Amino acid sequence: MPPKIAIIGAGPAGLTLARLLQHNSIPCTVYEGEENRHARTQGGCLDLHEGSAQVALRECGLFDQFLAVARTEGEVLKIYQPDGTLLLDEGSDYGEKRPDSFHGRPEVDRVKLRNMLIDSLEWGSLRWGHKLQKVTTEASGARLQYDLHFDDHVETGIDLVVGADGAWSRVRHLLTDTRPLFSGITGVDVKYSAIDQADPALAQRVGRGMCLTLGSHTTVLSQRNGDGCVRSYGFMRLPEDWHTTCGIDWAQSQQAKREFVDRYYDGFNEGAKSLILDADDDIVPRPMYMLPIGHKWQHRAGVTLIGDAAHLMTPFAGVGVNVGMEDALELGRAIIARKASWEEPFSESILSAAVRQYEDAMFPRAEGYARETWMYLNLFFNERGGHAMCEHFARAKQDKQAKEAKVASAEETGVAKTVVVDEDAITVE
Ligand SMILES: Cc1cc2nc3c(=O)[nH]c(=O)nc-3n(C[C@H](O)[C@H](O)[C@H](O)COP(=O)(O)OP(=O)(O)OC[C@H]3O[C@@H](n4cnc5c(N)ncnc54)[C@H](O)[C@@H]3O)c2cc1C
Repeated sequence: MPPKIAIIGAGPAGLTLARLLQHNSIPCTVYEGEENRHARTQGGCLDLHEGSAQVALRECGLFDQFLAVARTEGEVLKIYQPDGTLLLDEGSDYGEKRPDSFHGRPEVDRVKLRNMLIDSLEWGSLRWGHKLQKVTTEASGARLQYDLHFDDHVETGIDLVVGADGAWSRVRHLLTDTRPLFSGITGVDVKYSAIDQADPALAQRVGRGMCLTLGSHTTVLSQRNGDGCVRSYGFMRLPEDWHTTCGIDWAQSQQAKREFVDRYYDGFNEGAKSLILDADDDIVPRPMYMLPIGHKWQHRAGVTLIGDAAHLMTPFAGVGVNVGMEDALELGRAIIARKASWEEPFSESILSAAVRQYEDAMFPRAEGYARETWMYLNLFFNERGGHAMCEHFARAKQDKQAKEAKVASAEETGVAKTVVVDEDAITVE
C-alpha cells in the first residue's frame, strides 16, 4: 500500500508537489485553509525562471499550458529616480541593462498559475476549508504516523506531512522553534485597475513590466499584471509596528493614501505618487518578514517543509516562488524515485530517505537564494536610490565578461578541458 501523504497549503509549492506526485500515480491529498479558490485575491504576478519553476512545470506535464498564460513582454524593467529621471529602460534600450540571467523569466499572473495547478489535480484530492490547527504524532502499530487537527475534525494515520503552508506555517514547529523575523522593510500594497484607460500617460510611464522608483531608503515598486492593472508597493525602512503606531487610519482608504504619500514621498515626482494616490480604494499595510538566512532543521521522519514554510524570503530578488517550486520538484523526484520499493511492504525508512535527500540539497540551495535576496534588499533600500542597482547590474556584466575572457584564453592555451559556464560562476575543470 502506498504511504498516506498530506500536503498542507494550496500555494504554488504545495500544488506543484501534489501535481507531480499524482502525475506519477502517487496519491496525495492537499488540505487548504481557504474555503475556495476565489476566497482571497491572489496578488500580483510572478516571473518563473528557466532552471527551476519552469523545469517543475515541464515535469508536471503543464509546460504548454503555462506558455499559454505566460507574458514574455512583461520581462522588462524600468528604474526611475524620485525626480522622474529615467536610469534604465529595458523596453527602449536606455541605460544599463540587467545581466543575461534575468532573461527567460516570463511573467505569469499568480491567479492563473494557481488555477492551472488546481485544475490539474485529481478530483477530490484538494480539500478546501481545511485550516490546519496542529499536528500530533501517533505510533500506531509498526508505523510512525501523524494526525492532522482541523477546526472540526481530525485526519489520522498520515505517513508524510509536507508543510507548504507559507510564512506562518503550522507544521514548522514540529521541526524547529525558529519563527520569521521582521526584515526592516514595511509599507503598503495598492492596485490601480484599468490603468491604460484611466491614465494612458501613467500607464506608459510604467511600461509593460516592472517599474521601480528608488529614492533614499524609500521606493515605489510597480508591476503590470495581465488583467490590465498595475500593482504597486510603497516600501521603505520603518519599524515593524509602524502601521499600527503611525496614526494613519487604513480603513479610511482615500485619506490614508493621501497621508501616506504626503508624509513619506516628499521630492517624488507626480507619476510615482499617482500610482499610490489614484489607485483603487484598498490600501493594505505590508510588513515584510523572512526566516534567518541558512535556516535549517534536524531531519525528522514523516514531516518536512517546502516553499515559504521552509525558507521565507522577502520578494526583492523575485525568487520565492521559484525556490518553492524547485523544492516541490526535488522532493517529488526523490519520492517518485523510490516508488517501486514501497509496493509491499511499505517502509517508513524509504520515505524518510527521500525526504532526507531533498532536505540535504535544499538547505544550501535555499541559503544561496536567501543571501541573494538580502543583497537585493540592500540594493533596493539604500541612500543612493536607483544608482546602486544600475551599478550592480553593470558590475555583474563586467565580471561575467572577465570570466568568459579568462575561459577563452585558457582554452586557447589548451589549459581547459571542460568549461562550465553559468551566470555566477565559470569553472574550468
Ligand atoms: C509582495 C510580494 C511579492 C512577491 N513577488 C514575487 C515574485 O515576483 N517572484 C517570486 O518568485 N516570488 C515572489 N514573492 C514570493 C512568493 O509569493 C512566495 O515565495 C510564494 O507564494 C510561496 O509559495 P508557497 O506555496 O510556499 O506559499 P504560499 O503562496 O504562501 O501558499 C501557502 C498556502 O497555504 C495556505 N495555508 C496557510 N496556512 C494554512 C493552514 N494552517 N492550513 C491550511 N492551509 C494553510 C494558504 O492559504 C496558502 O494557500 C512575493 C511575495 C510578496 C509578499
